[in-house]
Amino acid sequence: MTQTAPGSSAVTTTGDGRFASLDPRTGEVVAHHPVHTPQQVADAVAQARRASNWWQELGFDGRKARLDAWRRLLVKRLDEAAGLISAETGKPAADAKLEMVIVIDHLHWAAKNAERVLRKRRVPAGLLMSNQSATIEYLPVGVVGVIGPWNYPAFTPMGSIAYALAAGNTVVFKPSELTPGVGTWLSDTLAEIVPEHPVLSVVTGFGETGAALCRSGVDKLAFTGSTATGKRVMAACAESLTPVLVECGGKDALIVDFDADVALAADAAVWGAMSNAGQTCIGVERVYVHEDVAEEFTAAVRKLAAKVRPGGDPGADLGPITMPSQVDIIRSHVQDAIDKGAKALVGGVESVRPPFVEPVVLADVPEDSLAITDETFGPTITINRVRDTDEAIRLANAGRYGLGGTVFSKARGEQLARRLKAGMVSINGVVAFAAIPSLPFGGIGDSGFGRIHGEDGLREFARPQAVARRKFKPLLNPMSFTRGAGTVRQLLAIVKLRYGRK
Ligand code: NDP
Repeated sequence: MTQTAPGSSAVTTTGDGRFASLDPRTGEVVAHHPVHTPQQVADAVAQARRASNWWQELGFDGRKARLDAWRRLLVKRLDEAAGLISAETGKPAADAKLEMVIVIDHLHWAAKNAERVLRKRRVPAGLLMSNQSATIEYLPVGVVGVIGPWNYPAFTPMGSIAYALAAGNTVVFKPSELTPGVGTWLSDTLAEIVPEHPVLSVVTGFGETGAALCRSGVDKLAFTGSTATGKRVMAACAESLTPVLVECGGKDALIVDFDADVALAADAAVWGAMSNAGQTCIGVERVYVHEDVAEEFTAAVRKLAAKVRPGGDPGADLGPITMPSQVDIIRSHVQDAIDKGAKALVGGVESVRPPFVEPVVLADVPEDSLAITDETFGPTITINRVRDTDEAIRLANAGRYGLGGTVFSKARGEQLARRLKAGMVSINGVVAFAAIPSLPFGGIGDSGFGRIHGEDGLREFARPQAVARRKFKPLLNPMSFTRGAGTVRQLLAIVKLRYGRK
């Protein structure tokens, strides 16, 4: 078996047009996958386009039957999927299983609700156009390209894939070079249920394969990954005016108000920051805690975080840092914070032991530190005390990201949530919104735009078509060269009566 030193490199190329995905815990090769060329990407998109008519013609019921059967297959083979997720990312088996549970719930919701949300419906035509029948229908866009990251290699892309398929599109998916096996497994299992046509195909490789997908003529491109790559994806898609959905990174804050359940908030902060070794776009990276409860909260976080143990063994709480280059970023953020005067309450620079990083809790971190301004993507957390929640909101909103947020407060949770510059907020819980399929997921600012999940997530992969159908001859028809001299005058009289008064 080929092996590289753990943490040295996450992928190796074989020289025969293939690359290996590696287990980041051990450096062992999980499997080899092809590096697909732009021509092969174009071929996959052409095949998906041919499959698209057939998939559309199945209708909502036909597609629901297939997606429900796929869901049942995913339940049956959940352990297999989780094993592959663990092997390619290094995350603990229980977390990989939890990821699949959430995937399955989303797939169920998308298949169940697609018809209700997207089917043709009548809307009022209004007084002036009352001779018309007005309808809206959300039709499939055609072929959707999906580019996904490695941190949740099933959950994250399935937020686009499940909803795009349920909306009647076919999909070509480019998984991260670190997790090609999970993407291929998803496509292979759907092909068992839908053997007739490739409604979900996978192209593997590096950034160039993703770039080729952007330029392949897909009807929409759904990207999830870093902000820097998101900008490149958008620029490539701009060449052909391909619409994009961009789900990028975050720097989410958790606010603890003076009346919060402090034990609950501390538990949520540690899970939100450390689970998946902090490699979560909606992970908690910063805490702003009211000074009245700061001491109690910090002591509770310290106690909990000190017990969290990374490792490659089955009993470990956290896996390794999946992408080796991230280790240097995590180290530099911790070092920079300490250099600028932050206190390390748990761990420190020495906690970075590739491929693992032990929990790091930093307090009194200057607001211009990298650990506050940039995405760390490691099991680290900053805790800064604030005089009041106005200060907490101001600091939480100061960055350029706006993905998720968390508020712990007994009396003012909703009021504070509303003031956060974030696409999603959990009150008295953490990251709960991501596991609720009916809630739209996405951010603002450097976190991107567009929404996956929920009704908005279904509509994101559809094109609204507005139809006005003449029912009968109107009393007044101003839109004709044969209109009478008084037609517009009469119309104005109606408008004045109808809209000109209180
Ligand atoms: P990257 O931006 O490095 O990569 C994302 C995907 O884009 C990968 O499949 C990558 O392929 C591909 N890619 C790279 N270059 C190009 C290119 N020029 N054109 C097209 N595609 C390209 O992100 P990571 O995989 O490192 O994922 C981590 C990031 O994802 C974090 O910032 C995290 O916050 C964010 N994220 C956001 C989520 C959200 O929903 N908002 C959810 C999960 C993660 P390859 O891997 O082969 O280079």
